[in-house]
Amino acid sequence: MTTTTNAYVASLPMVLTEVEVSHVERVSPSYVRLELGGSGLAECGRSGPLLDQRMKIVFPNAAGALPSFAGMDSSWWDTWLAIPEDERGSIRTYTVRDLVGSGVDTRIVVDVVVHDPDEHSGPGNDWALQASVGDRVIVLAPRLGHEFGGIEWSPGSASRLLLVGDETAVPAIRGILRDLPDDASGAAFLEVPFADDVQRDVVAPDGVEITWIPRGDAMRGASLHAAVVAWLTGAAAAAPTVGDDEVDPDLWETPVYSSSGEEVAAATQVPADTPHAGLYAWIAGESKVVTGLRRRLVNELGVDRGQVAFMGYWREGVAMRS
Ligand SMILES: Cc1cc2nc3c(=O)[nH]c(=O)nc-3n(C[C@H](O)[C@H](O)[C@H](O)COP(=O)(O)OP(=O)(O)OC[C@H]3O[C@@H](n4cnc5c(N)ncnc54)[C@H](O)[C@@H]3O)c2cc1C
Repeated sequence: MTTTTNAYVASLPMVLTEVEVSHVERVSPSYVRLELGGSGLAECGRSGPLLDQRMKIVFPNAAGALPSFAGMDSSWWDTWLAIPEDERGSIRTYTVRDLVGSGVDTRIVVDVVVHDPDEHSGPGNDWALQASVGDRVIVLAPRLGHEFGGIEWSPGSASRLLLVGDETAVPAIRGILRDLPDDASGAAFLEVPFADDVQRDVVAPDGVEITWIPRGDAMRGASLHAAVVAWLTGAAAAAPTVGDDEVDPDLWETPVYSSSGEEVAAATQVPADTPHAGLYAWIAGESKVVTGLRRRLVNELGVDRGQVAFMGYWREGVAMRS
């Protein structure tokens, strides 16, 4: 396998480079924590807080080989897509849980959710379940001094914050909580598969109440939905049934963007007499669960679309492509 150590495509506003697993740990039943390092990460970083900073990982193809991005220019994405599918490997989205070290010793920490590979597995899950020190992947990550996006947390002047997510959104919610100002107030609801997946070392302002919801055998998102509605209204409510055809395949709606093309107003324009004015909600996880929460908050509780980010991080039964 190639041992490229420098970042590919120097002109990109992000770092695209091959990295090596320098540490791997199964921290709980559903999480594999990885540290990825390589001299190509020397310029990896952000001048501001990481919050929910996303990144991409390119996993090796079925033969265990990684593609090379050497010589590619800013159209690397199209060039990579033109490589036959069985050769180019697979790309998936994750969250930069943390950045440790500096210079050529910079390492990206990522928490990858793992689940039984006999049910709905994909390249990310398969790779993480077997990852060991020395394994190599390619990352696309933030580059110091360049703003390329990848952060959705944007509460504007909201006075009451709501963070909601499943196991895949835990790294992002942890990052946001860590980076909030000390006087922030609100609540975070995190659904994880098992009680042993609850992370007791979350750093957050005192005014943000954190509720972990181990799912166990319950239906995905059911307890999460009930807890969020109870926090907003004082009364619990069952999650609505969402049909397969009612889920936007690319569900991504923020105060300034909608994957469905719907026009949205920025949070600062929400009239004071709107129900839950002052709220900003960040909601990410399985698309059907997020769709159910969207329906409840926007259609039934009257929360303005400009106050909420709804993000389908993954979709049950569907492989992500990027
Ligand atoms: C902005 C963003 C940030 C993200 N951050 C993280 C992160 O930090 N850590 C993380 O683990 N994930 C994160 N995700 C989610 C991750 O990208 C998806 O779970 C992705 O589908 C995993 O790829 P895969 O190759 O394992 O499965 P895919 O090939 O995409 O899917 C194969 C099958 O696995 C199923 N599947 C996928 N994910 C899960 C899951 N979590 N549980 C059960 N079944 C699943 C699919 O429904 C499908 O049937 C993030 C997604 C986004 C958009």
